[in-house]
Amino acid sequence: MLKYLSADYLFPVNSAPIKNGIIVLSNNNAIVDILSEWDTVPKGINIERYEGIIVPGFINCHCHLELSHLRGKIPKKTGLINFLKAVARGPKYSSDLIADEIIKADQAMYEAGIVAVADVANTIHSRERKLESKIYYHTFSEIFGFEPEIAKEAFIRGVELCEAFAPLSSSVTPHAPYSVSKELFRFIRMREDKSKQLISIHNQETEEENKFFRYKTGNFLDFYAFLNKNIDFFKAQARNSLRSVLPLLPQLQRILLVHNTYTSFKDINFVERYKKDVTWCLCPNANLYIEDRLPKIDLFIRSRLPIVLGTDSLASNDKLCILSEIKTLLAHFPQLSLEKSIEWATLNGARYLGIDATYGSLEIGKKPGLNLLTKTDGLNLTEESTLVKLS
Ligand SMILES: [Zn+2]
Repeated sequence: MLKYLSADYLFPVNSAPIKNGIIVLSNNNAIVDILSEWDTVPKGINIERYEGIIVPGFINCHCHLELSHLRGKIPKKTGLINFLKAVARGPKYSSDLIADEIIKADQAMYEAGIVAVADVANTIHSRERKLESKIYYHTFSEIFGFEPEIAKEAFIRGVELCEAFAPLSSSVTPHAPYSVSKELFRFIRMREDKSKQLISIHNQETEEENKFFRYKTGNFLDFYAFLNKNIDFFKAQARNSLRSVLPLLPQLQRILLVHNTYTSFKDINFVERYKKDVTWCLCPNANLYIEDRLPKIDLFIRSRLPIVLGTDSLASNDKLCILSEIKTLLAHFPQLSLEKSIEWATLNGARYLGIDATYGSLEIGKKPGLNLLTKTDGLNLTEESTLVKLS
């Protein structure tokens, strides 16, 4: 039994918006056909007609599901270093509570029209839910370790966690420039194979990271003192964090640079020239939560490299909702179109994750999930726009 759905506009994403388009779904929600208003529809067919814009299911490219129990626990706008200290200082939570909050967050993402998530893990807590979830997950087993002497041990732990997520899709990944030693980057590079495993690294989330790398000054010195870590081995690099670590990242793997809040025009040029397979991930609401500042979106719009969106975790966001991220971007950057931001939220993320045969665009044969954006105005959102999950 085929289902016919129509709205004021369809955003296929891989092609221009279709006014009054009709989308034909099979009973397992695969797209069988996409029709324009002039195409003939067989007589007697019931078309479900909606006001608004139909877009593909959203891809959330940065999340930490296992931190969902920290919702509302960390003060806002205190800067990354204070955020990290607050997380480190926090009380121990029971596994049952952590598991319950993971289930709620997964369900909330599903209802918010998210169909796939790139999720960072330091523990096995999220595996059980991910196995049952209606959402597709790729898990990054995140590796920390700034002291060179613990590199091997940290790497082995990361590989073990990565393998423990089987049969789910997973790969090992470095946490951030300031928390991974050159030795540990070397281990991660050695693991590189032809399978195009994914890498995701937090990048320039605070200006302190750049200061730390350029001059070995700033609040990261206090942070390592707070952690009782001796970082005498680390020398100022005379270049910022991104320029220091990009050469250390694997050559063949797809690399996601997450946050980029303090990434400059010169940095973007540097990355474009470097000939690595890099995607930029923006998490605007988390940036406002932690640093009260947004990346220079206008520079990224002009970048040759693809852009995707992420929510980060409930430790630094009030909700895991890609539509909210889009609304924040559109409110701050009027030159950004809804159409472009939907491409970031769908097809670009599906391509990064390597799941674009199924997800990311309205194309015949795909099963991308359908979201209806309501209370739209032509090709734009309004403040009242919400999301209804259609499939
Ligand atoms: Zn993160």
